Amino acid sequence: MTQLPGTLAAHPRRQRQLLEEHHGPFNKVSRNPPSHILPPYSLTSLTALRDFSLPTVSTPPRTPLPFFHLIERLKTTPREGWRRFPDINRVESISDHMYRMSIITMLAPPSVTEGLDIPHCTKMALVHDMAESLVGDITPQDGVPKEEKMRRESDAMDYLCDTLLGAWGGGNQGQEIKRIFLEYEEGTTEESKFVHDVDKIELLLQMIEYERRGEGDVDLVEFLPTAERIRGEGVKAWAREILEERDMFWRDVHARRDSLGNDEAT
Ligand code: ZN
Repeated sequence: MTQLPGTLAAHPRRQRQLLEEHHGPFNKVSRNPPSHILPPYSLTSLTALRDFSLPTVSTPPRTPLPFFHLIERLKTTPREGWRRFPDINRVESISDHMYRMSIITMLAPPSVTEGLDIPHCTKMALVHDMAESLVGDITPQDGVPKEEKMRRESDAMDYLCDTLLGAWGGGNQGQEIKRIFLEYEEGTTEESKFVHDVDKIELLLQMIEYERRGEGDVDLVEFLPTAERIRGEGVKAWAREILEERDMFWRDVHARRDSLGNDEAT
């Protein structure tokens, strides 16, 4: 794992300075990194729970209610990637993102559904970002090393599935959730590859929706390369349609601006 130089039990400003020296500057728009990404990299599920003022559980409870309460955070935690854009208001939550992904899996094109276990894909869409209930939505701009992000998410899933759900139904449902999460993370099965593509399609849909809502003042062009990372042919076709929609939207914006400019000139 990447080690940061020097002592890290320092003032947050010094911590940020050390992080930037090591990983490069934070994105200019997000003036301060969220506290959950700062070093030292010692965040565990239990320290996160204390931060969120949630009760900690050390032995598996006989009911899944503590688990239900914890995953409420998926409903209230916004998707971090959009928050760097101050003109986007009402950023969607992690649950919002997973909900639409789940519906998309149910509408997979026939070329995709053949040979795939679609109910399994739907479950994977519902589970794949569950660890973010504890670790938050860490984006590439946050500068957290990939290994550290994986460590935190794996730690969070252990807490959710082994501790909170460890005694419910003999612990079997909790272990199923963890298996599905790990399958998505490994990304080697056909189902997981499809759900990774769906993750990208959901982001592209959201991109154009925020741009439309911004009426030309929100340009999210930096998310376009996501479309090129889609691997399945059926899903690529959806990405092309979304990009055509986007082209049309921006052509209209420019045409409107041109005509306003002409009106003012006359
Ligand atoms: Zn996702």
